[in-house]
Amino acid sequence: MRPLNSVIAACPPSGIRRFFDIAAEMDDVISLGVGEPDFVTPWRIREAGIYALEHGYTTYTSNAGLPRLRELICDDLAGRYGATYDPRDECLITTGVSEGLDLVLRVLLNPGDEVIVPEPCYVAYEPCVGFAGGTPVRVPTRWEDDFAIAADVVAAAITPRTKAILIGSPANPTGAVQPRAALEALVRLAEEHDLYLISDEIYDRLTYDGVHTCLGALARDRTVLLGGFSKAHAMTGWRVGWICAPQPVAELCVRVHQYTMLCAPHVSQLAAVEALSGPDDDVEGMVADYDRRRRVFVKGLREIGLDCPEPGGAFYAFPSIRSSGLDSETFAERLLHAESVAVVPGNVFGPSGEGHIRCSYATALPQLEEALVRIDRFLHSL
Ligand code: PLP
Repeated sequence: MRPLNSVIAACPPSGIRRFFDIAAEMDDVISLGVGEPDFVTPWRIREAGIYALEHGYTTYTSNAGLPRLRELICDDLAGRYGATYDPRDECLITTGVSEGLDLVLRVLLNPGDEVIVPEPCYVAYEPCVGFAGGTPVRVPTRWEDDFAIAADVVAAAITPRTKAILIGSPANPTGAVQPRAALEALVRLAEEHDLYLISDEIYDRLTYDGVHTCLGALARDRTVLLGGFSKAHAMTGWRVGWICAPQPVAELCVRVHQYTMLCAPHVSQLAAVEALSGPDDDVEGMVADYDRRRRVFVKGLREIGLDCPEPGGAFYAFPSIRSSGLDSETFAERLLHAESVAVVPGNVFGPSGEGHIRCSYATALPQLEEALVRIDRFLHSL
């Protein structure tokens, strides 16, 4: 047979999946491995979906998505951050941020273009750059700096082929929220070298100690903003996200989407309209709950001897496991077999994640407390 696509063939299976598969075979596992809310979608949003089904909203929508939803997204961005996008031609609805990321990389990249990816980072960033014909260029961030992106380190990675910088804040896996000053320095760099900024802000509503800075408010004309409903509204299975971008980027994203996905699910778009039109109590309630768990869990990790950078956003803690003397893969595997606690080894998020594990605290408090007891017992057994 003729060879398949070499970039895809060279892409390893997700390091997260491997641990899920092992955990699925075991009993009594406490999973801190999954990156999704443990809440179901708030009832009023589900009701909007039910209403949409009952009334037969089962068709395609326009390719760019429901105009009402695009208006609500742009109003929300303008209201919370002062980031202004025209809902008519600078916003499109995607099937999750996952599709948004894929679309925008295909639109921006020519073969061999480089995208700078500060790591540790979300597992899809590097493969998606490769699938779009680009080359991901990793730059490290350090937990000693709270994983803030250092402009001088990024600057050293810029070459004539660099097209964009791809960042996520608040971040998966570290929970780091990029300080405004770090983002301003990146914007200056992007202006100096004429680069795009691709900003995955899917966790923007999930911040605890500080304020989220929206890159679309700092550098609207060179930022492609990705957002969605999966995390803050507990809507992972509905598959709705969005891209806000200046022209001609937004238009070309619609053009690709027109031939590939056509549109995000109609029922889900109507549910998302309800998510943005109704009161904010549901999101606030979930954020308050994550915050409670975050405090208990991070304090607990430190008490059992695992140094943990303060996660300011998302729902992940990223403690150091260096004191155990094990690498992150061995730590996660042995912890799972010995104590039935599933975590994700930090190295799957890039080399700077080595020496850490990712623990999701989108898990009920009693389970988090039991996980701490088990991890403590595991550490004592080493
Ligand atoms: N971006 C980040 C940083 C994520 O953590 C995830 C999911 O875990 C996604 C994007 C995917 O989001 P969606 O469900 O909107 O496709």
